[in-house]
Parts: sequence; C-alpha cells; structure tokens
Amino acid sequence: MKKIRTRFAPSPTGFLHIGSLRTVVFCYLLAKSQGGELILRIEDTDQKRQVKGAVESLLKILDWIGIKFDEGPNIGGEFGPYVQMERLEIYQEQIKKLIDKGEAYYCFCSEKRLKDLRQKQIEEKKAPKYDNYCRNLSVAEVNRKIKNGEKFVIRQKMPLAGITKVYDKLRGKIEFNNKDLEDQVLIKSNGVPTYQFASVVDDHLMEISHIIRGEEWIPSFPKNILLYNAFGWQSPKFIHIPLTLSKDGGKLSKRHGDVAVEDYKKKGYLPEALVNFSALLGWHPKNNREIFTLEELKKEFSFAGMGVSSAIFDLEKLRWINSEHIRRKTLAEFHKLATPYYQGISPELDLMEISKILHKRVEVLGDIPDTINFLEKLEDYKTELFENKKMKTDKKIASEVLRKSIPVFKNIKKWNEKNIKEELFNFIEKENLKKGQGLWPIRIALSGQQFTPGGAIEIANILGREEVLKRIKLGVKKN
Ligand code: GLU
Repeated sequence: MKKIRTRFAPSPTGFLHIGSLRTVVFCYLLAKSQGGELILRIEDTDQKRQVKGAVESLLKILDWIGIKFDEGPNIGGEFGPYVQMERLEIYQEQIKKLIDKGEAYYCFCSEKRLKDLRQKQIEEKKAPKYDNYCRNLSVAEVNRKIKNGEKFVIRQKMPLAGITKVYDKLRGKIEFNNKDLEDQVLIKSNGVPTYQFASVVDDHLMEISHIIRGEEWIPSFPKNILLYNAFGWQSPKFIHIPLTLSKDGGKLSKRHGDVAVEDYKKKGYLPEALVNFSALLGWHPKNNREIFTLEELKKEFSFAGMGVSSAIFDLEKLRWINSEHIRRKTLAEFHKLATPYYQGISPELDLMEISKILHKRVEVLGDIPDTINFLEKLEDYKTELFENKKMKTDKKIASEVLRKSIPVFKNIKKWNEKNIKEELFNFIEKENLKKGQGLWPIRIALSGQQFTPGGAIEIANILGREEVLKRIKLGVKKN
C-alpha cells in the first residue's frame, strides 16, 4: 500500500481556530496511526486576508500544541517550498498544461461586467454564475488581448451538463449537478492562484494521499475532483469531518466564547487537554475511555471510530479533561506550570505547599489566582457560612470551637502539616466533637469561603501561625 500522507493546510489568519486544531489532530492521527507522514503547508494566496506575523504565530502555537510535522516551512522536505506564495512559478507551469489541453481559458471580463451580470441574475432570481462569455474566444483574439495588456483571469472549463459524483470516505457518494458549477477561476488577475487551484496542484505534487478538512469545504469537493480530472491526475481520498457546534446548536463563533487556541492557552488549558478534547469531537474510542495523551491516541485511533454527526463543543467537558491532565502531571511538573499564576502571592508563603493543594483540585491554571486569593487576603464573609447541617455545626458550636482552638494553635511546637493535624485531632477528640464540627468552622474562619482547595489543616499550614491566629480571632469576634 502507498504510504499515507496527510497535510494540514491553514491560511495564516493571525490565530489558530479551535476547529482547525481538530483538523490537524485528525490529520496527525490518520497518518501516524498507520506509520504515515504529516505535512504542514501554508495557504497564503488570499493576500487580502494576510495578517502580519501570522505565519510565525501559527508555527508557534502548533509547536506549543506538540504536534510534530514531518515536512513544512520550518522543517523542509523534498516537496517544498511549503508556503504557497513561494510556489507561484509551479502554478504558472501547471496552468499552462491545462490551457494547452483546452481545459482552461483566459477570461478578460472586467469587474464591472461581472458585477452587472450578477446584479441582473439576482434581479431575475437566478443563482449568480459566470456566463462563460470568454470560454470560446479564438486563439488569435486571446493573443491580441494579452498583447494589448488587457487584464485577465484563467478559468476552468467545467462540464455544462451531467452529474459529478464524488466519494467521501466518511459520507460515501455525493452527487453534484454540473449546471450548478461555474467556470471557476484558477488564476486571479494578479497571477496568484485561487485556493481551489493551488490546493489541488500542491496536494498532487506533494503526493498527499488523504485530505482531511472540515465539512464546510464540501461545496469545493466537486470542483477539486473536476480539476484532478482535467489534469488527468488521480485524486487523493477525501474525508470531510463534521462541524463542531456550540452547545445551543449554532456555529462555533466568538459570540459563544473563545475560538482561538491562543485564548485557551492564555486561560491555562494544557495542550494535552486541547488535543484530547479535539480528538473526541468526531471520534469515538472503542471502550468509551476519555483521557488520552497524543501518544495514546495514536495507538488507539482507528478510522472506524469516526462519525458524521456534528460534535458539540462542551466547555465543561474541556475543563474536566484539562483537570485530568493536570492530575497526570507530577507535582514538580505542575508546580512549574502553576508558578506564573502565583504572581501577587506573598513570597513568605510556601508556594510548593500551595501547589500541593492545587494539584489535586484545580481544573484550569487560569483559575489559580482567584482560587488562592483568600490566602493573601481574607475577604469579609457572612457568618451563615459557619452553619452546616451535614457537618452538624452552627454558629454556636463554631464560636466554641474557634475560641478553644486558639491555645491549640498557639501551642503547636513546630508548625507543619503533621503537627497541626495531630494537635487538631487531639483537640477534636478531647472536646467530643465530630471531625466536621471541628474542622468546618476552622476552615471557614481561615478562608471565608464555602469551597477551598485543601482543607483546614492544609490551609493552616500554608498561612502560618500568626495569620491563623489572626483569622481565628476574627472568626470568634464575628460569631
Ligand atoms: N486553507 C484552507 C483553510 O484555511 C484549507 C482547506 C483544506 O484543507 O483544503 O482552512
């Protein structure tokens, strides 16, 4: 069997869309699960959409994601260059072949003529479509116009009738009426190819075996196939992966939250989690397992697990997957990742101890500052927090416990988690309290919050004796 070669072909728009991340993940998995190759190609022929520095930021974010390409602009390879604007000569060479074969033609229609034509068709309630005005110009006529310096585009001669059948590996056969297809532009008036032309030429010359892209490209599918036919080339296999929808069923857009991978990075999502989450948008593992590293995905992936129904972008699920990947890190790894989020935390606090409690509980790194803010500063809180039926505490019990805990905290010899635990548990036993009755009020007094990372003992250890006594005394006063 021929080697599998897939390509990720982003247009540099300034950021990596979260939907494109899924495309590259599937390109990777399809190739790598079968010992194939993954190619990165930059599709920058739409100069109007160019953004400065976009290619660099694209390469940077792909690098962060951790997907390795076998060939690409920053890697090289025998099928380069891998940036389309550096391949203009190649497209010129290829378009000549189509013109010589009579499959493509020069079109000199002015923008004004095309605009008027469109307007008329709309008024007549017809679908706007080029009317093939230049399709049958004589060679002499064409030469004369070119000599006169008239501007032109090059269009493909599409079949005028009949049906184009295409085959998608996920969806099976799809049919298109040729009369709905217009003579598509292959080379624009500035000599630059269109996406349709450049991508087909490149996919062929780069020996791509499988094209994986979003289902929004299905309308281009018959055009691509007709172009392969015009060249007499065998087409690669196509897989159009279903759209990712927002939770309310609409298209995933800025309105629903972040769409750029860069935004998720900033918020403290791990690349492993984003890759894991993306893979589950359209692929179902055999055993319903949900947490995978890229390496594990590569082993488990099979095309048979892919489906055509739209995937839903569920942020809660992404958060959960992220938390699972955080848990898989060692404490040292987590500490390194968490440290940038400790800005504003007093250097007197033991950051490693903070990492210890967060490692088991935090879902997204970006949540860290808010989660640990109480360590730095105790906000005013309501005394209702001391009441908890399940823990069998109320304000009265809390007040007792807090008052009596003061000498206990004062007398702990060496301030560490082990000693604090021992002394507090002794105290709870001596006072004939249930554990919760003792620990709940202390945790509330120390944090002023119903939910905290870590329990009373861990928090007390981090805060230190002086701060603990201050907060406990405040708790007594409040009750
Ligand atoms: N350059 C296209 C994009 O921006 C890629 C489409 C394809 O994969 O063929 O998404």
